[in-house]
Amino acid sequence: MLTPSQVIVLATPVFFALIAVEWFIGLKRGRNAYALADAISSLNLGVLSQTSAVFTKLLTLGIYTFVASHVALIEAETFWMSLPGWVLALLFYDFCYYWLHRMGHEVGVLWAAHAVHHQSQAYNLSTALRQTSSGALLGWLFYLPMALAGVPPLVFAVVGLIDLLYQFWVHTEQVKKLGWFDRWFCSPSNHRVHHAVNEQYLDKNYGGILIIWDRLFGTFKEEDDKEPCVYGTRGLLQSWDPLWANATVYRQLAHDSWHARNWLDKVRVWLKPPGWRPTDVAQRFPKPVFDLDAHRILYAPPMSRPLRWFAGLQFLALVTGTAIFLWQADQSPLASNLIWFGVLLTGQWALGAAMQGRISPWMALMLQSGALATATAALGMREWHWLFKPATMGFALLCIATCVSPAWISIQKTSKNHVYLLLAAIVCSLSGDVFLMLDGQFRLSLFIPGLISFFLAHTCYIALFKTDTPWFASRRALWLIATIGAAMYAYLFTHGLPAAMRIPVAVYVSVIALMAAQAWGRYRVQQDRSALLVALGASAFMVSDSILAINRFVQPLPWAAIWVLASYYVAQALIVQGSLRWQARPHTATDLSAQPERLPSTQPT
Ligand SMILES: [Zn+2]
Ligand SMILES: [Zn+2]
Repeated sequence: MLTPSQVIVLATPVFFALIAVEWFIGLKRGRNAYALADAISSLNLGVLSQTSAVFTKLLTLGIYTFVASHVALIEAETFWMSLPGWVLALLFYDFCYYWLHRMGHEVGVLWAAHAVHHQSQAYNLSTALRQTSSGALLGWLFYLPMALAGVPPLVFAVVGLIDLLYQFWVHTEQVKKLGWFDRWFCSPSNHRVHHAVNEQYLDKNYGGILIIWDRLFGTFKEEDDKEPCVYGTRGLLQSWDPLWANATVYRQLAHDSWHARNWLDKVRVWLKPPGWRPTDVAQRFPKPVFDLDAHRILYAPPMSRPLRWFAGLQFLALVTGTAIFLWQADQSPLASNLIWFGVLLTGQWALGAAMQGRISPWMALMLQSGALATATAALGMREWHWLFKPATMGFALLCIATCVSPAWISIQKTSKNHVYLLLAAIVCSLSGDVFLMLDGQFRLSLFIPGLISFFLAHTCYIALFKTDTPWFASRRALWLIATIGAAMYAYLFTHGLPAAMRIPVAVYVSVIALMAAQAWGRYRVQQDRSALLVALGASAFMVSDSILAINRFVQPLPWAAIWVLASYYVAQALIVQGSLRWQARPHTATDLSAQPERLPSTQPT
């Protein structure tokens, strides 16, 4: 039998086909409701909610199944499996969904999860798939009545899927009012109202399939043709980062709870309706008053044509990877699921960051390739690892090489020397990577050449961090890092470091500690975000090499390949990103042709 994840995989082509139809109709009517980055971002969040559900499902379906089979008040499995039983279960589910959804808008901590679905300023079929990844944490509570009534888990899962799939089609502006249908069912018109932030529409129309729940409990509001819906959340997200989208409201609540002076207020923040703030916190950290007109301006960082192509292709690759992941997830071991989830998440984050101009497309590819190199090493997929490991540094080289233009150098106020040293460091890292990767293969011992390559790479980094800063500007960082390095060396020395390796490892530890100390000194002088990224990268190198050395000379560590490689790629990426001084939207000089995206239908007139 198919799992719910597999049903979603099979439904995906249908979703995309309908999205294409809606987009085409919108174009023909001159009311296109799609913007590429917004749609990709929404779909990205839908993907993340499905991939993360692989892990939270254990919680949600697990608890439900336990309650239904041990605590159920009614034993009526044959009834629930009959046709009237199925229909009643669907109604029952829709009723529970109404309350979950309503509380999702009326209780802060539940809103923190549900807000993801509302963050898009567009309203189209891609918005429907924009789903939270943390809803499962508390959502299961609302379906316990069904478990207590003995609705079998299978029936519960199927009607849940029906309720979810039904809501897909109502997310469109292309279907107007539908007469009697609007009075009974959740419809495009009803649900537009639900997504609107206009004063009169706020917190209305929660129904999933039936809208009669709203009419019964006083939350129904009809769409008024004179008041066009403005979509989104009050408090705009302004980001394509899928992790931030999921975390942002939790962060706001945690912030207010932390700063509240009254203990009761610290708890109230989580339980009161969204927007409620303790008086003292609101005074100290005021927020701007809600302005509907400000919400009509769409968040749309400029994207050049090549970047749009890049984003589209990346998204297709991610969807394909996700489909394979979801199809196999239920039969795969937890560890490999976690590893592939990490790879997909890296890809999603990098795509969002590239669309936003926070990183270059080459950096996105470097991160994705690094994640794949890490996963393939951990899972013993040797040939794939041999592809992705050198590819990662290859992308790093391209990331840097595309920046060595006079225009770039003048924009970034950096010297050519700076870029060449960075290139040299990455070339040495690439050869070090290849040597260590092939060490022990073909009866060759390549550990020493690998060590020398990395020694040279770190020397280049030290020279790089010295170009714009005097030696060791922070004495405290120097002493602290020297102590850590000495302690690590002493530990290795007394725990099995072979005699032949004592001198090479001593030299290596000194060079890497020197690099980290210089990077932190540089941060102390420059005090900017780029220098901080570089210093953090240098520290990640120390972590990576410490794990590598302990794993090799002292004792094998569990999942060593993951920790060594992941921290190594984090180190390289942070140093490259920080050294290039890449800021959000740096390519304005070359991208004058790039137009910000517009959604004509929701523009202010
Ligand atoms: Zn909602
Ligand atoms: Zn919706």
